[in-house]
Amino acid sequence: MALVLLFATTAHAQQPTFHVLAFYSEAVEHDHVDFAHQAIAFYSSVARRRHFDFTPTTRWDDLNAATLAHYQLVIWLDDQPHTPQQRAAFEQYMEHGGGWLGFHIAAYNDSDTHWPWFVRFLGGGVFYGNNWPPLPAEVIVDDPTHPLTKNLPKSFLSPSNEWYIWKPSPRLNQDVKVLLTLSPSNYPIGLKDTIVGGDLPVVWTNTRYRMLYLNMGHGDKIFASNIQNRLLEEAIPWLAPPSGHSRGY
Ligand code: ZN
Repeated sequence: MALVLLFATTAHAQQPTFHVLAFYSEAVEHDHVDFAHQAIAFYSSVARRRHFDFTPTTRWDDLNAATLAHYQLVIWLDDQPHTPQQRAAFEQYMEHGGGWLGFHIAAYNDSDTHWPWFVRFLGGGVFYGNNWPPLPAEVIVDDPTHPLTKNLPKSFLSPSNEWYIWKPSPRLNQDVKVLLTLSPSNYPIGLKDTIVGGDLPVVWTNTRYRMLYLNMGHGDKIFASNIQNRLLEEAIPWLAPPSGHSRGY
């Protein structure tokens, strides 16, 4: 009897404080799938330690109002929605207080994307170019007082990644707060494809939404930095506060 009670008490104490749904695809660029698999392992571990519910899924049709109503945070690991229904459900979710964490290719957009709302949501930047092959890079903290960066050094070496540069830079949007920027000391970066200069925000939030974009997400080295892992972990409770107060959903 005592054992049963103990079990019941423990189970109650570890009720998940919020629910996270992480979308990914298996049939995309191999290096992006590698990242998605590592991210699922990383966030599953974080979820156990910090008592939130983390569900990975490849079913992008779960981007619908009925399913999203159960989740405080949506993650896109290596892809984005491609049907009008999925996109419309995501817009509704975000416009009514939903949370989003996007990595790397999740924010990719060009003249073929045909989703103007999404470009505005990201802060206005259209994909302009990237380095190749993936390389580590020094990144600079823009605001050391921000909750997500206050425990990071002023700059650190971010593991090997394919870095994207956007035009216009999201920084030019007054609603965007940039948290990490690629240090100009990295330029020129790349061998086959080279970025020679320009403003390259790496992590930012559009303050009109509960959202965060991180350009990291290419290959199997992303979780090799304990410093960066702190940021990757803290992004979750920052976006979906475990205090119990809901911002809409
Ligand atoms: Zn990539």
